[in-house]
Amino acid sequence: MPTLDDLPREVLYEILSHLSPVSASVPSLCRHAFSALFLSSRSLHSAVESYSLHLLTKLSLAFPSSPRARLKAPYTRTYLRHAHMRCRFCDRRTRCVARVFNDVRCCRRCDTRWEGVTMTDARAEWRLGRDELLARCRWGTYMVHSVRATMLLEEDVMALARERHGDLDAWIEKRTDKWKERYRVRKEARDKRQRLRDRDAAA
Ligand SMILES: [Zn+2]
Repeated sequence: MPTLDDLPREVLYEILSHLSPVSASVPSLCRHAFSALFLSSRSLHSAVESYSLHLLTKLSLAFPSSPRARLKAPYTRTYLRHAHMRCRFCDRRTRCVARVFNDVRCCRRCDTRWEGVTMTDARAEWRLGRDELLARCRWGTYMVHSVRATMLLEEDVMALARERHGDLDAWIEKRTDKWKERYRVRKEARDKRQRLRDRDAAA
């Protein structure tokens, strides 16, 4: 039965490329797939080390001023520590994670690349349920004023809103017309009550 050891190095590297992202939420880097493979066999140890060196080289070229991206053996450990502590997009040292993707290490500046919408706004603006938003959209949580809030990816929310309501411009216009009509009816009732009160006072 073929094993990972038997795979051509190119195929193995392709697999490792999918395993290489380091989740910011892992409690210990020992749980990363690279750590397990590193200890599995001599050939996998060699493959993971080579691929980690490749990743570190790419980081060194992309971010030459980054001190942590230097090529220091064992490369697997150096890469895992580096990826766990630095923004995935600009390589700045940070303890933050992306608001929508909580497992992605991301500085506050780079976090603006994803437009987010809060759960409260998504529900109020698009009349969508909490459960369907959580089930159908990508989301994460973040702390604001000591309260944990939910942030949804705006493009997913818009896609869900389009699925529910069709043409969103037409839906907003229809909703606005309904509000105007409701306001007109309430104002008429209020004016009528006021006229009755005025008449009773005059009598
Ligand atoms: Zn960044």
